[in-house]
Amino acid sequence: MAENNKSRKHREAAYKAWKTIRKRRMEEGARLTERLERFFSPRQIARVAHPEDIAPLVVDRGVSPYRYIIKPFSKVPPSIVCGRFWELRWAYGCIYDCAYCYLRGTCRGDMKPRYVRVEHVLKALDQVFSDPLFNGGKPALFNSGELSDSLMKPDFMEKIADKFAEQDRHKLLLLTKCGPAAVGFLLRRFRRNVVCAWSVNAVKVARLWERAPSPEERIEAARLVREAGYPVWIRIDPIFPIEDWEIHYEHLLYKLLSRLTPTRIILGTPRGLRKTLLYAKKAGVDMSWADFFKDGERTEWGLKLPFEIRRRIYLFIAEKLRELGYDIGKVTICKETVEMWRSLGWKYVPGACQCYGDHVVGLYT
Ligand code: SF4
Repeated sequence: MAENNKSRKHREAAYKAWKTIRKRRMEEGARLTERLERFFSPRQIARVAHPEDIAPLVVDRGVSPYRYIIKPFSKVPPSIVCGRFWELRWAYGCIYDCAYCYLRGTCRGDMKPRYVRVEHVLKALDQVFSDPLFNGGKPALFNSGELSDSLMKPDFMEKIADKFAEQDRHKLLLLTKCGPAAVGFLLRRFRRNVVCAWSVNAVKVARLWERAPSPEERIEAARLVREAGYPVWIRIDPIFPIEDWEIHYEHLLYKLLSRLTPTRIILGTPRGLRKTLLYAKKAGVDMSWADFFKDGERTEWGLKLPFEIRRRIYLFIAEKLRELGYDIGKVTICKETVEMWRSLGWKYVPGACQCYGDHVVGLYT
């Protein structure tokens, strides 16, 4: 019996020692990961300039630091139907590497993610939430997916989502191409004031030029969070007129609407901004997506597909959505010309970003 007790004590001591070593290794691993990750200070993130920005970049000194992290995006010329929206600059770069991504230009070719330490982001949010004059006193939508994929670091985003759940005025937009693995925190506990948006595309387009989870996985992730009670927007953007594009996109719409009913749908066609093209070429990615700009329209928002092709795409998708019983009053288009909106006869909110402008808060959120 004494022998048995001795060996049990031995086993317990060995187990305890192993647990301590494992804990130490895990802590060391976390420290190493942190060291490997690249961080940006709030001031550095404030300096990130969209290359096509028409407004001069001003990094105010002596103002509340939230202005470094929460910045207006307001760069559109009057011929493009868009307007100001708010960027939540919590990270910069992306873990994916889609061939056509506009971030290539913004990141000047270096897509490797950099993060703002989450404590700074939370502090900025505290400041903005307690500022009655922010956004002219109106509720705002904070787009966390303009300089990165919103769900590429779920542990950071969980803390940010928690912060939005503490108030009831402003909303957080998560824009992503991630799959179900990234939405665990949203499913474990429902957070108020969080709007989820997935960027999806036809399977063939995704295979050719996207480096992210498959459209099926993204739709599954969207379905899961929709079922959990979040508003879910879908961006089908950029829509490429590949061979038999009608069949490919019709298939996508069937698949999408058979799994969930999105709160709204945003459509877009490829934008060939000068710096996007330049840095995509430099990175040596497959540039065949840029062939679609041949005979395209030169707009104040870069190259676009020919006008008539874009128009056909929008009308086709709207018609299919209508056939599937989707309310096309909830469909909008991104960064399109005034001329295109007029020719479609669709209603827009003048001077506002149609996707993330103030008018969408409360309407689709
Ligand atoms: S997932 Fe989005 S942000 Fe990331 S590389 Fe692709 S298009 Fe760019």
